[in-house]
Amino acid sequence: MKTRILVTGGAGFLGSHLCEKLLSFDYEVICLDNFFTGDKQNVLHLRKNPYFEVLRHDIASPIELEVDKIYNLACPASPVHYQFDPVKTTKTSVLGAINVLDLAHRLKIPVLQASTSEIYGDPQVHPQPESYFGNVNTLGPRACYDEGKRCAETLFFDYKRQYDLDIKVIRIFNTYGPRMHPNDGRVVSNFIVKALQGEDIEIYGDGSQTRSFCYVDDLIDGMIKMMNSSSDVTGPINIGNPSEFTISQLAQKVIELTSTKSKLIFKELPEDDPLKRKPDITLAKSVLDWKPTIELDEGLRKTISYFEKLLTK
Ligand code: NAD
Ligand code: UDP
Repeated sequence: MKTRILVTGGAGFLGSHLCEKLLSFDYEVICLDNFFTGDKQNVLHLRKNPYFEVLRHDIASPIELEVDKIYNLACPASPVHYQFDPVKTTKTSVLGAINVLDLAHRLKIPVLQASTSEIYGDPQVHPQPESYFGNVNTLGPRACYDEGKRCAETLFFDYKRQYDLDIKVIRIFNTYGPRMHPNDGRVVSNFIVKALQGEDIEIYGDGSQTRSFCYVDDLIDGMIKMMNSSSDVTGPINIGNPSEFTISQLAQKVIELTSTKSKLIFKELPEDDPLKRKPDITLAKSVLDWKPTIELDEGLRKTISYFEKLLTK
């Protein structure tokens, strides 16, 4: 019998790539999603595989399924979307974590949490190692996501301590690629869509804030390596590309690669927007033998080509 894997948030950007990769490894996959930011189109091409199922369900409610492993990705990830209904975002992270953990506990199976670099908030340590506790404003507009994800990590480690559950926690840094929603609101898709449409590219703040961008294929490889690691590997482990760029540099790259006539305009920096972010991936390299292989220019070319096709459909 095939190993059956539950992917929550499976119709989203990362989730759809994960489902696709797992099916290519001959697993059976159940994609659970409430389609808040996900899209059936993202997994439509997988529907012909009889070992792929889609389940409409909200992770904030308990789940009764028989599976062998769980990847928990259900949660809006773009600031625009997670701030749309902040109470719901916290419920999704916290109740969602409890529900997948209870299921994993009942079935005695491994469960992986898609945590985030937002755990580090606006970091005062640079680059960020997993040992850094972070600098999050509990009261700000990003807190529904940041604190929700922090509490989810706490729950994962308490289920480990209390029930000896096989948990895996990865902290994902900014990841981009095909199947980001054109209205996702995150910087890479925003810049590419505006460039391809010849509209103004909006830089929030002065563009000197930094991010480190990981191409989706690299991220999915790291996520699967983490799930398949031995049970003494719990994490948290940072998964991201340590090549750091200012947001202005990213805009320049997108302009060059699309040959757009779009102009840059500057808007106010959102509250609590982290000024810098770069993963220390020493642990991922040593424990998982993982490092990213796709540099920003190559990843941007692939992503631009995806959006070119999407926008001319
Ligand atoms: P996404 O918004 O494309 O995907 C999230 C998916 O979860 C969507 O399909 C959405 O419909 C679904 N979802 C949301 N709330 C749900 C609920 N209550 N019940 C069931 N499904 C629900 O975002 P993504 O970039 O694919 O992110 C996936 C996961 O990875 C998230 O947990 C996110 O926090 C984490 N992450 C992503 C990044 C990144 O750069 N992409 C960085 C850090 C962490
Ligand atoms: N950003 C921007 N223009 C946009 C979207 C985002 O300048 O159209 C900035 C944003 O203020 C932040 C960075 O780009 O400093 C990354 O934003 P994103 O929402 O992609 O991710 P996060 O802030 O969660 O890392």
